[in-house]
Amino acid sequence: MTNPLLAPWDTPFGLPPFDKIRDEDFAPALEEALAAHEVEIADIADNPDAPSFDNTILALEASGEKLEKVLAPFFALAGADSTPAREALQREFSPKLAAHFADINANRDLFARVAMLWETRDELGLDADQARLLYLSHRGFVRAGAALTGDKAKRMKEIMGRLAELGTAFTQNLLADERDWFMELAEADLAPLPAWLASAARAAGEERGKDGPVITLSRSLITPFLQFSPDRALRQKAFSAWTARGAGGGATDNRAIVTEILALREERAHLLGYDNFARFKLEPEMAHAPERVRALLKQVWDPAREAALSDQAEMEKLLVADGEALPFQPWDWRYYAEKRRKVLHDIDETALKPYLQLDRMIEAAFDCANRLFGLEFEEVTLPGYHPDCRHFEVKRNGEHLALFIGDYFARGSKRSGAWCSAIRSQAKLPRAQSPIVVNVCNFTKPAKGEPALLSYDDARTLFHEFGHALHQMLSDVTFERVSGTSVSRDFVELPSQLYEHWLEVPEVLQRFATHVETGEPMPQEMLDKVLGAATFDMGFATVEYIASALVDLEFHDGPAPADPMQKQQEILDDIGMPQAIVMRHATPQFAHVFSGDGYSSGYYSYMWSEVMDADAFEAFEEAGDAFDPKIARSLEENILSKGGSVEADELYTRFRGRMPGPEALLKGRGLAAE
Ligand SMILES: [Zn+2]
Repeated sequence: MTNPLLAPWDTPFGLPPFDKIRDEDFAPALEEALAAHEVEIADIADNPDAPSFDNTILALEASGEKLEKVLAPFFALAGADSTPAREALQREFSPKLAAHFADINANRDLFARVAMLWETRDELGLDADQARLLYLSHRGFVRAGAALTGDKAKRMKEIMGRLAELGTAFTQNLLADERDWFMELAEADLAPLPAWLASAARAAGEERGKDGPVITLSRSLITPFLQFSPDRALRQKAFSAWTARGAGGGATDNRAIVTEILALREERAHLLGYDNFARFKLEPEMAHAPERVRALLKQVWDPAREAALSDQAEMEKLLVADGEALPFQPWDWRYYAEKRRKVLHDIDETALKPYLQLDRMIEAAFDCANRLFGLEFEEVTLPGYHPDCRHFEVKRNGEHLALFIGDYFARGSKRSGAWCSAIRSQAKLPRAQSPIVVNVCNFTKPAKGEPALLSYDDARTLFHEFGHALHQMLSDVTFERVSGTSVSRDFVELPSQLYEHWLEVPEVLQRFATHVETGEPMPQEMLDKVLGAATFDMGFATVEYIASALVDLEFHDGPAPADPMQKQQEILDDIGMPQAIVMRHATPQFAHVFSGDGYSSGYYSYMWSEVMDADAFEAFEEAGDAFDPKIARSLEENILSKGGSVEADELYTRFRGRMPGPEALLKGRGLAAE
């Protein structure tokens, strides 16, 4: 029988045939795909003809098609529907893949051809897209250590293999801690909680095979529990478990892994000739150097900290009024912030939630994309990787553009958080292909027969991930290497964070935030409060975020710390971290930075992008229309369709006529001085 991963896929839209793929197909398919890729690479490297763009750079871009067919479905499943068997496969695959790509990067004949093309680039008559691909290809080889020889090359290979293993172990430890821990509640503990939260706790209990309700470490369960439970002891217990993930001292402890990762990253940077890992990592980013990142974060830190401390002083009064003892603790923050929100903005999440139906928020995200970019969405039934997946064909002017998959509900087998990934990315050469894009979220699944309701945060997450999806779906580049979200880290969050702004456009909420039972639109008064509350508790949100971003930066901008937990404490002491706020992601849980390389010394990039999204949305505000067609077209032409085919600062400048400063961000967060 042919392996379904490698057979031609005659599925609609070329979706991987998830209904035919079995776990045992992956390992043999991977072996075959790796071998096929090795042959392709050898053919390019050993080609007797003189190197040309087509026989080297384009041929490289064309290679590895089988490997993509195996890995795209595998990583979709490993992230969103993991099982012990798939975890074992991931442990087996990650060092193999690391070694495979390290071998390609270390192929001296191959690099010699790329280097020769690079040297003679001005005489090759390349167009802009080809020149960009050559530049990125050459830079990729050099940064991967292709210019290294002998012992240095050997050591680099060891380092990369080990880092891949450590990243996988870090992720799996975190997932294990999140999966194993739960706190059983008595029915009486549910009484003060909103009905939807009580029902989610009961559903979580059922999923765990318990008689009663439980609180788990799923962010969509624990965060509202901390927000609503008046029981300080239970809050402390839940909060302590939440912040102890990856630091429990047992087999799933991540601290030694972090120490080793940081040391290996530093060694890697030194081998490549950089002072430290942050300098190496930031070189291709829009920010370019650690100083610029630090300066931005510090500019925002002081006003944010001040706002947070002044909010805390107000909440301490509420704590004392409840007959509780000071000091104000981290597990008190969300609870008293909610109380204060009720007083100041009178927004009751319980009253708000029936207006935020998942289905209607999906419609809202689609409708905005229709008004801005003319996209049309039609739901289709396909065999997805999980029964919860919903599939939509995306068209424009009647023509197929993309397949969009929404996988919205939390489950034990899904990694926490929310993300957007492409099962297939847009490209024109060497093969024309349309994108298949997935949005994965962790919204609380309703009991059978009940509609799914979101918090306002959830709705923002939905818009955020959909913004990434648009970046993929509207991509109109020549080569896959620069397709969609293949841009610098500190630019990739611009489309997603920008899209969140449309959720806050009053007419969008008016139309789509309708009550689950009555169908009535959200009352104007509630709408005003929702919009007015957008900057509420921003001091807290900014502080917990910047603390994480600075720890990430300082970990990598200097010698690797022997004791990262102690270094983390020093950094926090140095910036005067408020005692009642913890990092948004403490080191042993900081998957952005330690699950892989993606956001290492790059966690700042969310804020860097926010500088731009605030400034970019102002373009629509200045036009007096959130759906201004001219600006929407410019956004698509200059940013959303371009992927990484042009440098990010150039793209932004084409759209806005200039670069942005932090003023718009401070204003957007309500932190600007009056
Ligand atoms: Zn994002």
